[in-house]
Amino acid sequence: MITEEKLKILTEGAKYDVSCSSSGSSRKNKGGMGNGYVAGCCHSFTPDGRCISLLKILMSNHCIYSCRYCPNRADPDIPRAVATPEEICELVIDFYKRNYIEGLFLSSAVYRSPDYTMELLLRTVKMLRTQYNFHGYIHLKGIPRADMGMVRQAALYVDRMSYNIELPSERSLKLLAPQKDKESLLSPMRALTQEKAEYAQERKSSLFLPAGQTTQMIVGASPESDGQILRLTQSLYRNMGLKRVYYSSYVPVVHDSVLPDKPVGQLREHRLYQADWLLRFYGFTADEIAPEGENLPMDLDPKCAWALRNPQFFPVEINRAPLEALLRVPGIGAKSAYKITEARRFAALGFEDLGRMRVVLKRARHFITCKGKYYGAKNESAVRGLLAAPAERAEQLSLFSDRETALAALTGDL
Ligand code: SF4
Repeated sequence: MITEEKLKILTEGAKYDVSCSSSGSSRKNKGGMGNGYVAGCCHSFTPDGRCISLLKILMSNHCIYSCRYCPNRADPDIPRAVATPEEICELVIDFYKRNYIEGLFLSSAVYRSPDYTMELLLRTVKMLRTQYNFHGYIHLKGIPRADMGMVRQAALYVDRMSYNIELPSERSLKLLAPQKDKESLLSPMRALTQEKAEYAQERKSSLFLPAGQTTQMIVGASPESDGQILRLTQSLYRNMGLKRVYYSSYVPVVHDSVLPDKPVGQLREHRLYQADWLLRFYGFTADEIAPEGENLPMDLDPKCAWALRNPQFFPVEINRAPLEALLRVPGIGAKSAYKITEARRFAALGFEDLGRMRVVLKRARHFITCKGKYYGAKNESAVRGLLAAPAERAEQLSLFSDRETALAALTGDL
């Protein structure tokens, strides 16, 4: 049985990893315990509004590497611990039976060597599935430079794997995480993507990483702009087939002279998530969202900012515009756009009909016409004034300052 002290150290060490969340995996119970749910794990909201939880823990916080931003790096004199595979398995089953968790997010510092650590992780997930008959959701962190044979085997037992890119450029990796390089992170991701495609070709995709791969980037620990981060994100979605890229705004948890001494505001992270939704669900490209060397504006969400930079595109007529054009209108989310295209087949839509389709009219009205009539402000500067948060307040603004914005944050509607 794992001691309380060890549990505290290993769960505390895992808390900075945000690359878990909604899984998309569906694993059926075959007479054992637990189910992997379609909509995910780790304090994530399912489509029916349920929040489900998972045990987020490290195998060890005893690292041989020295990433300068990391509290678990080799040098500091902090309490260290290593769990055994048996301890993790017993804990998962115990917590599952008590209804504390529905899945596991298992990560680790690089303990002794990449291969040694990967072997511990592999033994744990294999044991959970084969000896403890646990069918709940498992998200496993991959260990860079570990033997790919073990990584591939692990992928057969878990729902999702992730390698954290952490820093968006090779230069920053060299400076802040000198034992890692881009290739040691990207090549296992690439190999897993290829193998998953082979399983899919044989119609066996449920056997190999059914919930795919994710990654995480730290925002603001290094000088890369949002434009650079979004280009890397776009290439990860297009070339690696990643399910999600997570962004974690930098928080100084260790003192180091090359790192910023102040946290990066959460608003920057929030804007990146909004831009990420535009890439995944709204047909935007990184080039359209932010120039390579620039950050996203803080006072406008990235869709409004794009709309104001492209006035020639607007207004779009709600009753005629193709779906792709509707998706570009600020305030019209992906679901609303589909609803509009369905509803207008039967009757022309008026302005008052849009509110019922969850269109955020206070934004959309400036970019649309309904039956040829325009309901927005008279000129661009008036529109900007109505949409933008005052620059000096933008950093302090509550991210979810009204009901519509809070709802949009949950649904990803922009
Ligand atoms: S590899 Fe780097 S980020 Fe990961 S635990 Fe070790 S020091 Fe921390």
